[in-house]
Amino acid sequence: MTDPDTISAGAGPMPIPGHIDPVPLPRDVTPRADGRVDLIGLPKARITELFAAAGLDAKAAKLRAKQVFHWLYHRGVTDFSAMTDIAKTMRPWLAERFVVGRPEVVEAQHSRDGTRKWLLRTADGHDFEMVFIPDADRGTLCVSSQVGCTLNCRFCHTGTMRLVRNLTPGEIVGQVMLARDALGEWPKGRMDGLEIEEDEGGYSADGRLLTNIVMMGMGEPLYNFDNVRDALRLVMDGDGLALSKRRITLSTSGVIPMMARCGEEIGVNLAVSLHAVSKDVRDEIVPINKKYGLEDLLAACAAYPGASNARRITFEYVMLKDKNDSDADARELVRLLRKYDLPAKVNLIPFNPWPGAPYACSTPERIRRFSDIVFEAGISAPVRTPRGRDIDAACGQLRTAAEKKSRAERDREDVERIHAEKQAALG
Ligand code: SAH
Ligand code: SF4
Repeated sequence: MTDPDTISAGAGPMPIPGHIDPVPLPRDVTPRADGRVDLIGLPKARITELFAAAGLDAKAAKLRAKQVFHWLYHRGVTDFSAMTDIAKTMRPWLAERFVVGRPEVVEAQHSRDGTRKWLLRTADGHDFEMVFIPDADRGTLCVSSQVGCTLNCRFCHTGTMRLVRNLTPGEIVGQVMLARDALGEWPKGRMDGLEIEEDEGGYSADGRLLTNIVMMGMGEPLYNFDNVRDALRLVMDGDGLALSKRRITLSTSGVIPMMARCGEEIGVNLAVSLHAVSKDVRDEIVPINKKYGLEDLLAACAAYPGASNARRITFEYVMLKDKNDSDADARELVRLLRKYDLPAKVNLIPFNPWPGAPYACSTPERIRRFSDIVFEAGISAPVRTPRGRDIDAACGQLRTAAEKKSRAERDREDVERIHAEKQAALG
């Protein structure tokens, strides 16, 4: 494996930010051809700096940045000409130098059960996806952090794709902006602070459908830590999208060295893709386990800043027939969670099959029995209902469906080859 410190900037593969894990990134972001800067994804302080560098004096830069930030994140405006409290002459000045971007929508699907899924494209032409899952009392947006994934969990379709690149903070927060656009959820208020009354109904106090965010789309968020943190800070900013950290969950396959920083610097709820309770099985289905083992992972969970009985850690467990679904597995799961004294809940996820997948989903009876054993030990273990199956709304499946015709034949070979390569890289 390559040492990140020996790779020179700009030449060849780039190390993962933070120098924690030397996973090579094939390419970085391509800058915009027209030279304008996309403001989405930048913190207010950076916008202020850019305005000052473009010629505004310090006071004006600060004021304009505050106004623009509010329009971007509170109103969802994408056009400078709509920013009515900014001088008319100033608006074209901004438009010449800056843009307010959104990921391009390649395809939008609506499931019979209300689940919505979007295939999105970055400005430099890479596809990734986002899913919105409405429930009785909440609406959850499942956000991607990378195009592809460097890890290769054997049951996960994203794991068969190469990592193309990390998503930028703008592309990550851009997903939330786009979902609000699509759901029509920007306040229609006035800039003097007097909000126009919104329709009653919906789930949240302010009538919005999008109430929760989970970093559970494509990619491993803790392998793109800086960008995910910067994006989530914008999502949580009181002057911005203003979503509470209690309504945001970050899911990791177990990048132990980044977990404490996730708690300290982002402070969101943690979900851990556990999926197995023995070294052998976890090594097979979640190969990062060879690098960061099960017991160390559980110890890191016990030390996660902010974890408590009021804010429990979610352990995700995908139900794979005859692989990880026995009564003994369920009892071992209980033993491990008790051993580390974890404030835990367990999410049992019926495996969503994809072409060429080497596993099948456990039977409903088996899943029920597994859930009962965990539940009887006093740990909540709901079975997640599969959502949006008619539109393949599971991780990594829309992008692949779009490529299906050309890829169908190569699919199997690719799965095998990429698994072999990634496993070799993990050592
Ligand atoms: N990389 C992070 C977050 C993205 S994956 C992680 O692994 O936690 C989000 C969740 O989707 C994970 O828990 C993963 O196990 C689950 N998942 C992936 N493929 C699936 C499939 N085919 N069926 C059911 N769940 C799947
Ligand atoms: Fe990557 Fe998560 Fe899929 Fe594993 S489950 S391959 S970490 S996206």
